Amino acid sequence: MSGMKIYIDIDDVLAETTRALARAARDFFGKKVLFEDMSSFDLRVSLQLNADEYDSFMLAVHEPAFLKNLEPIENAIQTLREWDGSGDRIELVTGRPPSSRQATVEWLENHDIPYQSLEFVDKYGRQHDETMPKLSDLAGRHYDLAIEDSATVAVYLSENTRSRVLLFDRPWNRDMDLSGTSISRVFDWLEVSKDRTLDGTTWS
Ligand SMILES: [Mg+2]
Repeated sequence: MSGMKIYIDIDDVLAETTRALARAARDFFGKKVLFEDMSSFDLRVSLQLNADEYDSFMLAVHEPAFLKNLEPIENAIQTLREWDGSGDRIELVTGRPPSSRQATVEWLENHDIPYQSLEFVDKYGRQHDETMPKLSDLAGRHYDLAIEDSATVAVYLSENTRSRVLLFDRPWNRDMDLSGTSISRVFDWLEVSKDRTLDGTTWS
């Protein structure tokens, strides 16, 4: 049962990022958008930002002050500590820009979150940085469990890696039809934790 290798996304899986983004859009631009109505992964669409607003918004929300204040998602940290204690290898794979590394590490330290690795991968084709690993660089890996909120990344992982993929339910992935895929939808960390406990098989 022990020694699983687990891929975990950070934003909207470990950290309540998009709820904070909705608040920031209200504060910066007066946008009154409800989290539950954010049905697009594209913030330009879900927060109704024009190109100029989007650019300044993205700069602001990658500032250390914003990242530092993100709330952890309920039961996530406690679950990771249990996994760490039972010998699992926790690999954090984020789509944040590498410039946010220090703020990200500080957030993880402040919350005492255990992990073995932290990678910055241009999962969404957003960074325009040739030196950054891309989604395609994850092909061929295997994880016993992978947890994502991006439907696109979840599908990519299920098709191109040997991983059991959990899609963390969020308004922007609800129209994703998972029938015919091996991806399971999970609604909270208690469910993720239960899933990990039930499945004693590993790929290795
Ligand atoms: Mg995410």
